[in-house]
Amino acid sequence: MATEDNNPWKRSQEKLRAIAKKIHLDPLLLAELEEPDRIITTSLPIRLDNGNIQTFTGYRVQHNNVLGPYKGGIRYHPQVSMDEVKALAFWMTVKCAVINVPFGGSKGGITVDPKSLSENELRELTYVFSRKLARAIGPEIDVPAPDVNTNPTIMGWLVEEYEKQVKSQKSKVKTSLTDNQLKAVVTGKQVDQGGSLGRTEATGLGGFYALMHVLKKLGLNPKDMTVAVQGFGNVGYYAAEFFYKEGIKVVAVSDSKEGIYVKEGLNPDKTLACKKEKGMLSGCYCIGSVCDVKNGKQITNKDLLELPVDILVPAALENVITAENAANTKAKIILELANGPITIEADTILAQKDTMVIPDILANSGGVCVSYYEWYQNMHNEKWTKEDVFKKLKKQMEEATNDVWTISKEKGVSLRDAAYIVALQRIQNAWKHEH
Ligand code: GLU
Repeated sequence: MATEDNNPWKRSQEKLRAIAKKIHLDPLLLAELEEPDRIITTSLPIRLDNGNIQTFTGYRVQHNNVLGPYKGGIRYHPQVSMDEVKALAFWMTVKCAVINVPFGGSKGGITVDPKSLSENELRELTYVFSRKLARAIGPEIDVPAPDVNTNPTIMGWLVEEYEKQVKSQKSKVKTSLTDNQLKAVVTGKQVDQGGSLGRTEATGLGGFYALMHVLKKLGLNPKDMTVAVQGFGNVGYYAAEFFYKEGIKVVAVSDSKEGIYVKEGLNPDKTLACKKEKGMLSGCYCIGSVCDVKNGKQITNKDLLELPVDILVPAALENVITAENAANTKAKIILELANGPITIEADTILAQKDTMVIPDILANSGGVCVSYYEWYQNMHNEKWTKEDVFKKLKKQMEEATNDVWTISKEKGVSLRDAAYIVALQRIQNAWKHEH
């Protein structure tokens, strides 16, 4: 068997072309979507705590802004590459269209292992990146957010430096926005720095709402189901917690190092508290308060994907379900909370065994949806309650899930293809008004 080419950018473009052909997308629009509008590669030198200079590479890819300002997260990870960021930016363009928020797509990243830097070094790195990007981003231009290994604190540093640049005497960035509106340059901020209540939970919660809606359509009772979640960061943890509260049995979770499998089901909240205390997941399954859950077993990240569960949730990185292991997965439903966790070949294998995949561009769109609410609150000087945010998110996730479900049934295509059809048609409708 030829080795799979899992270059995410090639994969994403293959998908784009296949769907464009299916729906006779205007070839001019296709050509526009086949390359990003703008690519920024920038070198980021910082002074380390020991006095040495180290230079990192940062990227920002602005893919398309037909629907509104470019929008997308920034990740800090050793694997960050230009092609990965390009794919992730393209996925943001389609994701924003599926969830129906008035944003285009972008993405950024720095090739770095953030765990190897001190807090001071990480802040310096973020400041330099913000300085380099200051003239390319803005509330009405391009709006970064958190992604893998970035968080509200890092978003706060980005905003701080951006504001400094905009307000400095020598500033070349001209803006007529108020101080409050300027904060909309980045979403996923701390609440006291202009962040929205509910943004932290949003990606996991949005995925939960999408899953509940699909289970309802399938006539399945969540309380009869088991789930395994790969990735115990912000997205995976909250998803697991919402599943647990609904009565879905969470039998396995994993972080970047290892996983635990507890057949009787585990409590995500207690597991997280314990992981923080012990420093590792496997230290938890039979220690202290979580010890009441018996028969815990240490597993690898790879094992988790092949567990006998009803629902599998990859919530970490791309390309984890491939031609090699797709046939071994047992779940009937896969909820993609990571971006691009299933390769194209794996997708075909899963379709052959009737695994239902709720695709990333729908399943994890709750994050950018609440990012839009945050942006909107900053721009209009409003503050919404958490209940309000969750209520709006539920409605918007259910509407998007319905749109995708309907097209899937009407055209007899997978949920992934249906999500792409919904997105590309929305983009084409807006694009036609400009041409
Ligand atoms: N990084 C998240 C994603 O991949 C959120 C993006 C945002 O809120 O702009 O969807």
